[in-house]
Amino acid sequence: MGLDSPDHPGRRIAMPANRTLLLLPGDGIGPEVMTEVRHVIGWLARHRAVSFEITEDLVGGAAIDARGTPIAAETVARAKAADAVLFGAVGGPKWDKLGFAKRPEIGILTLRRELGLFANLRPAVVLEPLVAASTLKPELVRGLDLMIVREATGGIYFGEPRGVETLPDGQKRGINTEVYTTGEIERVGRVAFALAQKRARRLCSVEKANVMESGLLWRETMTALGKREFPEIALSHMYADNCAMQLVRNPRQFDVIVTSNLFGDLLSDLASMLTGSLGMLPSATLGAPDASGKRPALYEPIHGSAPDIAGKGLANPMAEILSFAMLLRWSFALEDEAALLERACTNVLASGLRTPDVMAPGCREVGTKAMGEAVVKELDRLAA
Ligand code: NAD
Repeated sequence: MGLDSPDHPGRRIAMPANRTLLLLPGDGIGPEVMTEVRHVIGWLARHRAVSFEITEDLVGGAAIDARGTPIAAETVARAKAADAVLFGAVGGPKWDKLGFAKRPEIGILTLRRELGLFANLRPAVVLEPLVAASTLKPELVRGLDLMIVREATGGIYFGEPRGVETLPDGQKRGINTEVYTTGEIERVGRVAFALAQKRARRLCSVEKANVMESGLLWRETMTALGKREFPEIALSHMYADNCAMQLVRNPRQFDVIVTSNLFGDLLSDLASMLTGSLGMLPSATLGAPDASGKRPALYEPIHGSAPDIAGKGLANPMAEILSFAMLLRWSFALEDEAALLERACTNVLASGLRTPDVMAPGCREVGTKAMGEAVVKELDRLAA
């Protein structure tokens, strides 16, 4: 299987398939971990007759260097046309001095905005071989499998009025506004309810209805939506501060959590640390389905471009591989293949192979390439 090289961005690769995929490796370790996903894609084509029409393109610093912009209009158009986008990471010291509007990170922000990606899915799963990597006691996190759905395009990060003004007495005042409409709450709520339907059928909606009007509207809207469209899901409500406490006290009480942009930002970072390493954590961001049922979707590891280890072959490719597993599940309903890939990753870790970020006593340290090869070898073994 020949894939497009970054030297020929946008060129289509001849693979007979009606599933279209845009790969955006980006900067730093992004291209390194994406290479390992390509091997997995090749394996699926050879062994499961699952193939994709793949386009690859530049984003972030790589796009700035080649085209003078963190994301070109044609790249956005390709992302819109694709069934799903798999993203690596962007950024690095080389581009740190650029003004905010020109920075590599604008690449991902533009994609989220242009594709209307409003529901950010962050799973926090503790794989058995990595139980000891959590900062919490093993008995609290063993078997943890929760999903946080964060509203990603509204709330206080985007609300108006905003800014810094000077008061008559010379003081300055900074202003940001938390705003949510029923429509915004319902659309992210539907994503969360639908996820709960495929999981343990429990959804916890998180806000601060005790002190914020927008929180009260959030609670009322979620309650009405649940009653009207998802009566089979057990919906509960929790204040955000209590949720932070419960996540470290007894995280396994949760199945799916849905919350606003601000609270989701904090709670999903907190939950991710229950699992150990940044190098293990995938994510998805989804938009609304169109009339044909096609839902815009972007999948990416939560880690950045890791300039400190970029080019050294040390990056853990699991977060990117597990992001691809999410893509198989949520964009193409390939549940069996997604589960197979997740099992292969767990088994490789259980065999004692570790990249440096998750290294533990008694395990064998390997680099990015060897870890990717081990996953493909384990896929061979599982499929035999
Ligand atoms: P980072 O996630 O890149 O790195 C934080 C630490 O985790 C580093 O020590 C790094 O070596 C380690 N790490 C991250 N991913 C790893 C992996 N797969 N395997 C092993 N170790 C891993 O965060 P940072 O250092 O704060 O940011 C570096 C650059 O990435 C910045 O330019 C930042 O803006 C950018 N960034 C991009 C994204 C994105 O593309 N979505 C997200 C976060 C940060």
